[in-house]
Amino acid sequence: MAEAGHINYTPPFRGRGVRKLVDAPPPFEKIPIDWDHENLLRDIEEKLLADMDAFIRSNECRRGAILKYFGENRNLVCGECDCCRKSQAGRDKPRRDGRDADY
Ligand SMILES: [Zn+2]
Repeated sequence: MAEAGHINYTPPFRGRGVRKLVDAPPPFEKIPIDWDHENLLRDIEEKLLADMDAFIRSNECRRGAILKYFGENRNLVCGECDCCRKSQAGRDKPRRDGRDADY
């Protein structure tokens, strides 16, 4: 049909159809690793983890701590977060000796 001019047929490419696009990776020992940079990144991640651990274990108002983290420089006590409620409950709860906690 192609010879008769009915269709335009292009035969598929034959042989050596696979082309190498990238070189093989170097052996692991030869991979250039910037250990100073990797250690710096590790220190940053460990600092962030320590900060998060301190945030979780803190008795400080959660909202106030988050605002401080983002640069607001005021002591907020929201009265709604778990720490504020816990400290409020501690103040409202009567002491064993019968006196109010505030006295
Ligand atoms: Zn709070």
